[in-house]
Amino acid sequence: MEEVSLNTKKKYDVVDITDDVVKIVENSGVEDGTCFIYVQHATCAIIINENYDPNICDDLLDALANVVPEGKWKHDKIDNNGAAHIKSSIIGPSEMMFIKDGKLMLGRWQNIMLCDFDGPRERKILVKVVKDEM
Ligand code: ZN
Repeated sequence: MEEVSLNTKKKYDVVDITDDVVKIVENSGVEDGTCFIYVQHATCAIIINENYDPNICDDLLDALANVVPEGKWKHDKIDNNGAAHIKSSIIGPSEMMFIKDGKLMLGRWQNIMLCDFDGPRERKILVKVVKDEM
């Protein structure tokens, strides 16, 4: 298992980690298998979507802000980030994808991104590459 460490820059941030994951897959030497990506933070999420137009990431953050407004959650009394925990739960902490001929089977317009809903902070993402049995 490998780890990607990065520092997010804003309270709400979407960081493209595709290049880091591609390097880990290449270094693994696995030709056919599965790649799991998991973020170990309760106020983050992993998404696969387009990053060619960065407006898509902004739109996602806007949509989530509309669905989950700030400042009205019981957990806010603890550390004032109830909305971040809910967004993380909705989107989810992990993604998986297939590896074929040593390459991630991402679509033409798909990238892998970390979403931080309670930054800026140092964030850690685990990446595990599993080789097919047969
Ligand atoms: Zn909290």
